[in-house]
Amino acid sequence: MSDAESATEDFVQRFVVEGQAVRGQFVRLDASWGALREHAEYPEPVRELLGEAMAAAVLLASTLKFEGGLTLELKSDAAVRLLVAQCTHDFRIRGVARFDAAKVAPDFAALAGGGYMTVTIDADEAGGRQAGGRYQGIVALEGGSMSASLEHYFANSEQLPTSLRLVSDEHGASGLLIQRLPGEGGVAAPAAAQQTWEHAHAALLALEPAVLLRAAPEQLLRECFTGQDLRVFRAQPVEFRCRCDLRRVQGILRSLGEADVRELLAEQGAVTVTCEFCGKPYRFDGIDVEQLFATGAVPGSERVN
Ligand SMILES: [Zn+2]
Repeated sequence: MSDAESATEDFVQRFVVEGQAVRGQFVRLDASWGALREHAEYPEPVRELLGEAMAAAVLLASTLKFEGGLTLELKSDAAVRLLVAQCTHDFRIRGVARFDAAKVAPDFAALAGGGYMTVTIDADEAGGRQAGGRYQGIVALEGGSMSASLEHYFANSEQLPTSLRLVSDEHGASGLLIQRLPGEGGVAAPAAAQQTWEHAHAALLALEPAVLLRAAPEQLLRECFTGQDLRVFRAQPVEFRCRCDLRRVQGILRSLGEADVRELLAEQGAVTVTCEFCGKPYRFDGIDVEQLFATGAVPGSERVN
């Protein structure tokens, strides 16, 4: 373990195939995946789905061109009622899943069948919202896996042939995404690009999950792009970091309403709100509650996230 520990890394890395309209991103989560799960107990199938969603969120966020964040939100009437995976433009991740334990089974349909996933991209308010503020897309959960669902989404919404693998276990999560871009100005010979794409797609499908989770990225890319000249960009570090703060929690309590909060205070002596993402407790005693509803208080956000 000591060797593995010394080599642990959490990163996302972009690459392009020189001279061909093929590009991609690779993500590996290790310590950040451990930190993210520290405050929650998930059955294995739910944990794997959450790991895949976290890897997907980082891959999608790595193409953001402005400051902000990306949220994947899965909803279904199957075992996983709600799953949220978030990644900021500087690769701070957090995520959570709510599930019905009685329905959990190691099968995508049992976990999320009939559900859908929303992809939301938000520009930071500090960034001036000049990038258009908010983008939202809907991913139908189909094809038997989260990666297949996202492949369909890219093919339909962006007209980009996309090959995606997402894998996760208790130690880590990984994802590799390869896209074929439309040829521009005849730079790439279409037949060669098509051949590169088809080889990479087949090689990606053939990779063992353990290889995706543990092998050096250079090795993975060599297997997918045999004989190709790759330009690999600098790896960007990924870390677990929650965005909850006191102001947001105050906003939630205000939106609950003064009567309800005072009732909770009377029953329990204090009102405690625990962040679902990081487990941090926010405790409000009688004086805090007075201040919360003092005249002139500014209404805060209604959401923790
Ligand atoms: Zn938190």
